[in-house]
Amino acid sequence: MSATSDTTETTGGPSLPQRRRLVTEIPGPRSRELMARKTAAVAAGVGSVMPVFARRAGGGVVEDVDGNSLIDFGSGIAVTSVGNSAEAVVRRATAQLEQFTHTCAMVTPYESYVEVCEELARLTPGDHRKKSILVNSGAEAVENAVKIARYHTRRQAVVVFDHGYHGRTNLTMALTAKNMPYKHGFGPFAPEVYRVPMAYPYRWPGGAENCAEEAAAQVVEQITRQVGAENTAAIVVEPILGEGGFIVPARGFLPRIAEFAREHGIVFVADEIQSGFCRTGQWFASEDEGLVPDLVTTAKGIAGGLPLAAVTGRAEIMDAAHSGGLGGTYGGNPVACAAALGAIETMRELDLPARARHIGEILLPRLAELAAKHPVIGDVRGRGAMVAVELVRPGTKEPDPAATAKVAAACHAEGLLVLTTGTYGNVVRFLPPLVIGDDLLHEGLDILDHALTTL
Ligand SMILES: *Cc1c(COP(=O)(O)O)cnc(C)c1O
Repeated sequence: MSATSDTTETTGGPSLPQRRRLVTEIPGPRSRELMARKTAAVAAGVGSVMPVFARRAGGGVVEDVDGNSLIDFGSGIAVTSVGNSAEAVVRRATAQLEQFTHTCAMVTPYESYVEVCEELARLTPGDHRKKSILVNSGAEAVENAVKIARYHTRRQAVVVFDHGYHGRTNLTMALTAKNMPYKHGFGPFAPEVYRVPMAYPYRWPGGAENCAEEAAAQVVEQITRQVGAENTAAIVVEPILGEGGFIVPARGFLPRIAEFAREHGIVFVADEIQSGFCRTGQWFASEDEGLVPDLVTTAKGIAGGLPLAAVTGRAEIMDAAHSGGLGGTYGGNPVACAAALGAIETMRELDLPARARHIGEILLPRLAELAAKHPVIGDVRGRGAMVAVELVRPGTKEPDPAATAKVAAACHAEGLLVLTTGTYGNVVRFLPPLVIGDDLLHEGLDILDHALTTL
């Protein structure tokens, strides 16, 4: 039964050998067996990018149950930025596990919850007085940001963007742009959600140079004419869009939207769930254009793989709701809080914002070289360790999701774990752990080059 136990090997984490190694075809026999059990026992709605089962992971590799070692360009969707089983995360979470596992922060609170909120106040943009709430998932953080903004403003409308992604709960499905797979068949969706254009330079009809100005003007016009700024509680935006295709909004667009929000008492919410915690080369992607959001939502990279998420923002907004109006049984679980403190310790100690910039300095020029060589690459974009290529039919901007799926499959077969994304399903994204070695990055890019060549 226990196809996965392997007592002869050492543990994962930072000590795992940092190399790609294929000892079976992908997937191997043990993964196939487990996949048959998964198909029988797990709901079909829970898909998997690669049909291999993990045994250990650490640094820049994931080892599967057949002993194959894959280069990790996904970080479990931007979560294990500090690496899997990072030393400080394991040390602190283990110590906490031995003390207590749960009391419920709403019953008898504990210091680590407060400490995480203090860190969030220090690390998020702006030096105003801030407070936080801790929850379990990114979607729950976004839900709470909307609750808080509505309570504070006594308004209902929420403005979101084309290509935006904010989660899979009922409200966050409404906030998310893409139908398939996130929304299809799951309606009806929450009301009072309004979608406006995103400044997507590569696809802006008026050209990339006019994108910021024209898109901002359209957003302001739509909110003013169709929603009413005075009815708008919040504008929710990802400073770099994740599931929508790693779109970097044209420079100047976000500051203009933030200014409009400020002028009209609208709560400006930066959804930094994917872009936050060092990923883009700064602690938060909002910093790049000097944005100071009223509220910031965080999750993914915050706790080295344990489930934790937060809303952090201006104290007067965060304090609007009555006592008992916010919370949840598990929100800010003590083990997850300990892990977050370990992850933040690691980010500081290893200067992971600098490390993310270094990764970008390797990835972006090499991807630009690949774009010159392979006309299927229409656009290369991103910042730090959040970068992507958009694939199109050569000579056009017509999205090519079939080529994208083929490239990803070819990479997977060679032991490179990459993820695809984008509204049109034609984006290959690179989200390596920030502790990955340069040699693995280069090797991964060589595999990608080969996959593009064999298209
Ligand atoms: C992943 C993600 C979410 C949802 O987070 P979950 O933890 O999956 O609920 C929300 N917003 C953005 C930008 C994300 O990338």
